[in-house]
Amino acid sequence: MKAVLKFLRYAGNHKRLIFLNFIFNLLYVVFQLVTLMMIMPVLRFLFSKDGANAQALSSKNYGVGQWFSDQYQSFITWFGSLAKGEPFTALAYLCVALVCVTIMKNGFRFLAMNFMVLIRNRSIQEIRQGVYQKCLDLPIAYFNNERKGDLMSRMSNDIKEIEFALMVSLEALYFQPLNILLFMVALVVLSAKLTVYILLFLPLTALIIGLIGRSLRKRSVKNQVLLGKVMSAYEETLGGIRIIKAFNASSFFAKKYNEQDEAYTKNNIGVQRRYDLSSPMSETIGISVSALLLWLGGSMVFRHELDPEFFLTYFAIFSQLIPPFKAFSNALYAAQKGMASLERIQELVSAPITVEDPQNPKIPVFTSSLSLNNVGFSYLDGSPVIQQFDLHIKKGQTIALVGPSGAGKTTLTDLVARFYDVSSGGICIDGVDIREFEQEALRRLIGIVNQESILFNESVRNNIALGRPELPLEDVINAAKAANAHEFIMEMEQGYDTEIGERGGKLSGGQKQRLAIARALLKDPEILILDEATSALDSKSEKAVQQALELLMKHRTSIIIAHRLSTVVHADLIVVMDKGKLVESGTHNELLEKKGMYYNLIQLQQLLSN
Ligand code: ADP
Repeated sequence: MKAVLKFLRYAGNHKRLIFLNFIFNLLYVVFQLVTLMMIMPVLRFLFSKDGANAQALSSKNYGVGQWFSDQYQSFITWFGSLAKGEPFTALAYLCVALVCVTIMKNGFRFLAMNFMVLIRNRSIQEIRQGVYQKCLDLPIAYFNNERKGDLMSRMSNDIKEIEFALMVSLEALYFQPLNILLFMVALVVLSAKLTVYILLFLPLTALIIGLIGRSLRKRSVKNQVLLGKVMSAYEETLGGIRIIKAFNASSFFAKKYNEQDEAYTKNNIGVQRRYDLSSPMSETIGISVSALLLWLGGSMVFRHELDPEFFLTYFAIFSQLIPPFKAFSNALYAAQKGMASLERIQELVSAPITVEDPQNPKIPVFTSSLSLNNVGFSYLDGSPVIQQFDLHIKKGQTIALVGPSGAGKTTLTDLVARFYDVSSGGICIDGVDIREFEQEALRRLIGIVNQESILFNESVRNNIALGRPELPLEDVINAAKAANAHEFIMEMEQGYDTEIGERGGKLSGGQKQRLAIARALLKDPEILILDEATSALDSKSEKAVQQALELLMKHRTSIIIAHRLSTVVHADLIVVMDKGKLVESGTHNELLEKKGMYYNLIQLQQLLSN
């Protein structure tokens, strides 16, 4: 039941639609009952020998039944006079009425379903958009490679599962009980005595059907788990097929796979047996209960306790009771299944946002310096990646970060952009800690060009003016020209309107990089971060990119991470890092004289390039 309530909370934003759905469903059930009850007058007029002058009811009813019999009797009398005693006319009227009632009944059902479709799709849309927005809001720390697959599966499989569960359950969970209730009321009205008899047997029947259903459910859940194991064994084998062959491990893997497969097959046989059993069982039970009803009701008819037409109508309504019971129990099951998915979605939606904006943010102004004061940082898994890091950067300076891979260079720039918060110490712009600014305001100051330029499935123009489609094309073109990108863009079929999605694959690394540089130029940031921006390029494109980069860095404060040390020679300050610590710093010449780590790195690179 908890699952059901959670579902309802999502749908709860659409109260008006739910109300309309309820009203039309109610009308539908009422009209369905009316259709079934129309058997009564039909039978009466067919079987009464003097046609439309139908006789009075032959038997006595008690309680509510008496009230209903009286109403029914006056209806028959009125209807008889309407048909002027003509049995053919009476029958014709009844047939026309039956068609009209049926049209209305189905019309109401269609309207109800129509509102349900809206509720379902809008609720799912809200969940999906909520998840997407949350992903945009979550700090970078949340997204590591492992998580990406998991996040994708939540967005696709889990949401699909919830949609399916919502589709089956939402309506059925309230509509079927309503259906059952109204039908039961009709049964009581037709014959309270017979209903009491039947109710005595109902729990037994429900118990038997319930037991079969439960065991089926348990095994189907297990089936999913076992199938998952079979699939992952298969996947693992495909991934490692080279190694499996090279090490002659085929028979070992075949044995392992076959064991998983056997467990799944056995369970599946059990599921299918029970499934096959459930249909004959429920038919047998259904017919047995009907036979019992026939005997009990028939006896009452013989004893003149119940009119035959009442009994036949009773029988017809009773036979329509089983499907709503089934639909209700299916809906409960679906809701339970959807619950696991819903929990996974909620876990994501309620994940804490660890990098927060302050209550009263300050406006960042960068006029003099960017400083890192005794900065320490470690990722979630613990060991420190940056330690006691002090660096003072004056506005307009170019700073190069060098050092072995894994030294913490990228992490340091991520801290400046506040993708993560420092664990200790602080980073200040003009003496104000960057945690006192809104993230958006801070990042407006910063431009980043990475080793792998990230392009989106958009036009060239929108890729350069990322997130700001309102910028005039002229500005975009100027930026592209400055980034040495204009020429090759114009060679594309639709120039600046070319969709990168189609053409992205055909762009060379250097071209992509120049688009990324044009993007940074257009943003015109105060602080520029270049993370290995030229290292993925061949020497020909490197030249074009290098020129563009130099222009980009002019009059700006830049932090460059470069593997190739030749590119950092002209930096105002070279900072050598190792294991998260600042080892030495100075200009190229100062560091060469020191004959420290930088000197060694230079020597090593020269050795390698010779
Ligand atoms: P560099 O840029 O100097 O090569 P990085 O800043 O990329 O170094 O990495 C510094 C250290 O932090 C490395 O030991 C790396 O394994 C670790 N690291 C980088 N990113 C993460 C992350 N998202 N989660 C945990 N550890 C990370």
